[in-house]
Amino acid sequence: TARAALAEWAGPGVTADGTPVKILANVADGESARSASEAPVEGVGLFRTELCFLNRKDEPSVEEQAEIYGQVLAAFTAAEGGKERYVVVRTLDAGSDKPVAFATHVGEENPALGVRGLRLSFSNPALLDRQLDGIAAAARATGTETWVMAPMVATVAEAAEFADKVRGRGLKAGVMVEVPSAALLAHRMLEVVDFLSIGTNDLTQYTMAADRMATDLAHLTDPWQPAVLQLIAITAEAGRRAGKPVGVCGEAAADPLLACALVGMGITSLSMAAAAVRPVGARLATVGMDLCEDAAEAALAASDPRAAREAVLAVLEG
Ligand code: PEP
Ligand code: MG
Repeated sequence: TARAALAEWAGPGVTADGTPVKILANVADGESARSASEAPVEGVGLFRTELCFLNRKDEPSVEEQAEIYGQVLAAFTAAEGGKERYVVVRTLDAGSDKPVAFATHVGEENPALGVRGLRLSFSNPALLDRQLDGIAAAARATGTETWVMAPMVATVAEAAEFADKVRGRGLKAGVMVEVPSAALLAHRMLEVVDFLSIGTNDLTQYTMAADRMATDLAHLTDPWQPAVLQLIAITAEAGRRAGKPVGVCGEAAADPLLACALVGMGITSLSMAAAAVRPVGARLATVGMDLCEDAAEAALAASDPRAAREAVLAVLEG
């Protein structure tokens, strides 16, 4: 039964016919990382570094940052039980819904469309350099495989400049796909980075032009919206062609039904709140890749979110 499968599933992520899918956790600090490391995950797909600094007035030194990031990396060292695990660290996503006192530009008319995420890092390059130095130091100290990605990337030039800085420190470089322009140009992004990670919360907000915080727009801020699914499919297909990892780390990855459709589109990793790990992993273990592909096709053909969900359910349980 489904309940037994849920209780028994112990990772790693794999479809019923043996296609591996990395199941990863979203974390905010050392404490959440240690608790996530108890779950059957192969690492962290999104470490939201800005959440470490929401209460800070001043920027922590490189040494202090290294210590803070090291707490997360230390929870996922490869040595533990011989498992290969990795952590994707996201550089500061300050601004808009996540104000950071020492970074955020204040007084913007429209902060969601303003100097946030990587734009903020580029407007203060020394701040980004110090953060990357702190991440690199933590990676050296712990020996954990560390990937670094930037939020709110809109152009290939931004991705290339960021990747240079990260690779210069010996780490794998990626960018988040949160802006429709990045999804449409995913194939070009993949020429300059090692991996992509789709942030469906912001990708949905910017595709539908609907504030993710506005509860009365919930019908629009839904990752099952056909336009959002199309952009995810374009991005995943670009990853397949390039032979590079493309993950999803927004809320969409935590929905077991949608997760199967995402895998069918070619998504290679799913990162989510620790509580969603077992439901998603257990569901994926019950369906083969052919069904995931049928689910993707059905979702993409649907004309609205509800029809998409029903179509996927019909394919998976049909
Ligand atoms: C997203 O936008 O989907 C995402 C994962 O980043 P955040 O929710 O932190 O903006
Ligand atoms: Mg985001």
